[in-house]
Amino acid sequence: MKKLFIEQTVDKIGQEIGLYGWVDSKRDHKKIVFIDLRDRTGIVQVVGDEKFKELNSEDVIYLKGIVKKRPEKLTNPKLKTGQIEIQALNLKIISKAKPLPIPVNSDGYDIDEEIRLKYRYLDLRRLRMYKNLLLKSKITTFIRNYLTKEGFLEIETPILTKATPEGARDFLVPSRLQKGKFYALPQSPQQYKQLLMVAGIEKYFQIARCFRDEDPRKDRAYGEFTQLDLEMSFVTQNDILELTEDLFTQLVKFVFPEKKIQQTPWPRISHSDAQIKYRSDKPDLRKNKQDKDELAFAWIVDFPLFAEQTEKEYFFGSGKAKFAPSHHMFTSPHPSDIDLLDKNPLKVRGLQHDLVLNGFEVGGGSIRIHDPGIQKKVFDLIGFTEEQKKQFSHMLEAFSYGVPPHGGIAPGIDRFLFTALGEPSIREVMAFPTSSGGKTAVMDAPSEVTNDQLRELGIRLIGEKSKFQSSNVKSSPKSK
Ligand code: ASP
Repeated sequence: MKKLFIEQTVDKIGQEIGLYGWVDSKRDHKKIVFIDLRDRTGIVQVVGDEKFKELNSEDVIYLKGIVKKRPEKLTNPKLKTGQIEIQALNLKIISKAKPLPIPVNSDGYDIDEEIRLKYRYLDLRRLRMYKNLLLKSKITTFIRNYLTKEGFLEIETPILTKATPEGARDFLVPSRLQKGKFYALPQSPQQYKQLLMVAGIEKYFQIARCFRDEDPRKDRAYGEFTQLDLEMSFVTQNDILELTEDLFTQLVKFVFPEKKIQQTPWPRISHSDAQIKYRSDKPDLRKNKQDKDELAFAWIVDFPLFAEQTEKEYFFGSGKAKFAPSHHMFTSPHPSDIDLLDKNPLKVRGLQHDLVLNGFEVGGGSIRIHDPGIQKKVFDLIGFTEEQKKQFSHMLEAFSYGVPPHGGIAPGIDRFLFTALGEPSIREVMAFPTSSGGKTAVMDAPSEVTNDQLRELGIRLIGEKSKFQSSNVKSSPKSK
């Protein structure tokens, strides 16, 4: 039998129904016991007999009952089911609950986040968190439908891969089959999506998980996040901006009908104008910053292709070059600035675009370099050694077999939702985020591993020995 959701009970007046759920609260009136029964769709009042006395909050139960219309003066306008109540016929306790370590019937903002993350499976019972997860699911479904209709293919790219040099630290995964070598978790599918364009896919997207070992911030979770990654061939920058703008405009109408986009078409502001006018490359253009339903989208374009860097900041290349890519090293220079690559690299504009919303950078992208000669020049300007260039030889080789001009963008999905909702932290829109100290919710990773696991990978820890010995794996003669 299909489970009846609590919100559906309002259509069943006069009928006998079966309901599953959690006991949200109990009010004991001696012979009659009222409980509020909860599932993810809401709460309904149940009128029970003395058997209901033994129920505690958060017990999971099944009950049969008759749906009754409440007398006019006993209706509760605050509840979706406030017009009715369930007269219980019988009760089955499926699973008892201990008292919870955190309350789940509040918005939860005032509870210590470490505790909320330790008990995330309870924390997600609160309505606010459920709604956030529901919105995220609606967003990804909408995006999939929209892009599929526009002729995009959803394609997965590897998670065990090689470092994508996008400016953050990589997470490394040791290889067992090739000891001493490591995979990197992708900072984004950047190189793969460009290779898919070489493959002739033309329109690609992925709801992609990206991994970056960088310090958490209010708008950036530690470790991993999800972005809508997309790439197209034979397009101009304007095509990418128009598609993205329409996608997000339709998306806002669908998931946030109460919200208003402040200005359409979205303003396009050059990087230098933004710096002069707002002293920021992600200006908050809301007219009324108190209004939670105002969405001020904007495009920032014409970024300088390179940023100057001091030796201390050095991330790319040999450590001598003065220039770092301001987006990433695959971004195409503006066609009219190609000459400046040799003469004055800091004056070269890149075909980069950032999507800004209410003062946050929600996504970025660019038209890519597809000329191997220009790509090599950019590698030189950012100071790549021969060794480092070799790491990208697959891109240059791929570009020698007929490459379409291409470009794309990658808006962060958690970022967008967090910004549109005005939540205080991006972790509020993620089911199991990592804490600011880098620990995973509930499971408390990272954790030590057994000596046997390390031995198999050919890894010895420096200093302290692995404290945690394997209990069920006996050391084999090989591993002695
Ligand atoms: N890979 C880039 C990023 O993650 C986005 C892009 O250029 O499409 O920021």
